[in-house]
Amino acid sequence: MRIGLCGGGQLAQMLSLAGHPLGLRCVAYAQDAGDPACAVGAFELGGWDDDDALDRFAARVDLVTFEFENVPRRAVERLAARVPVRPSIEALDTAADRVSEKSLFRRLGIGTAPFEAVDSQADLVRALASIGLPAVLKTRRMGYDGKGQKVLRAPGDVSSAFAELGGHPCILEGFVPFRRELSVVGVRGLNGEVAVYPLFENRHRDGVLRVSTSPALCSPSLEAEAHRAMRAVLEALDYVGVLAVELFEIEGGLLANEMAPRVHNSAHLTSEGHETSQFENHLRAVAGWPLGSTRPLGHAGMVNLLGAVPDAATGSGAGSVLAVEGAHVHLYGKAPRPGRKVGHVTVRAADAAARDAALARVVALLGA
Ligand code: AMP
Repeated sequence: MRIGLCGGGQLAQMLSLAGHPLGLRCVAYAQDAGDPACAVGAFELGGWDDDDALDRFAARVDLVTFEFENVPRRAVERLAARVPVRPSIEALDTAADRVSEKSLFRRLGIGTAPFEAVDSQADLVRALASIGLPAVLKTRRMGYDGKGQKVLRAPGDVSSAFAELGGHPCILEGFVPFRRELSVVGVRGLNGEVAVYPLFENRHRDGVLRVSTSPALCSPSLEAEAHRAMRAVLEALDYVGVLAVELFEIEGGLLANEMAPRVHNSAHLTSEGHETSQFENHLRAVAGWPLGSTRPLGHAGMVNLLGAVPDAATGSGAGSVLAVEGAHVHLYGKAPRPGRKVGHVTVRAADAAARDAALARVVALLGA
């Protein structure tokens, strides 16, 4: 079976690699032959407005899936007219807009920060009257890794905030004094079968994920609440594939922040940390195959490599992380650029204390 991947980044690269041993051949729809997915599998080059290239891509595959949620709707519709698209256009639409995703959470009884749609500076002032300060103003679309958002702490932050985000449609959210950031990652098959991974705990720096660990240490009731939320979203969207929901843990429970209709950075550690990786499970789901177990194989952690690959992340580097027991390196082959995700390192150990020690050693060696 041939699976089309919209996008040529590292997520498409890891999907392509995971498909090969299963006999699933991925074709990435990439913008540039230097994109990470093109180094490991077949690809078609083209832009989202290039109908001929989209048609050539569709002709080479049995179905299409996504490594990111912001593929223009027109391109998705063109592909959907030719081959099955999984997850569906409706699921992508919901996840690409912060107001739609939070409205879905609310409709399903999943807690969120208070929020209001904001289309003008006047809307912002009105929304602040009910939400209050501090608050977070975010663009509804295309925001990621903390981009396209502004924390409003004092009245002086408000006057130019809407214009500073480019005058795009926005959402105003109450600022959540969270204890921890968690994510829940689940997968739903074509036949409605669902599997959910244990929770991931995520630490960010400057809005970008730095370190994830799993299983997150938490009460069974918190885990159950997250799993219930995941199942509710998967079912409401008649979803097929891997879905991630980012959560805030607060006093007394969880609030959902956003969802990603794709494999997710916090679950990269499933490659070594769990019976079946998120990449394999996504492919199994969209192919209509049985899902794999999400059972943890121990306690796993992941550190993102940002900017450039440190010497210590290579085998030849002095003090290589490869010498740390249970450590595995994943490099994406991307050119260095400040803040860019260029790879990650995972560790797995028998217990949380050994995992945390290995993770600390890896972080120290990487200078991360
Ligand atoms: P997002 O793009 O929504 O994932 O936000 C990026 C990061 O900003 C999150 O991982 C949080 O650390 C922080 N953040 C986002 N929304 C809020 C909020 N409503 N309250 C507090 N912190 C937030």
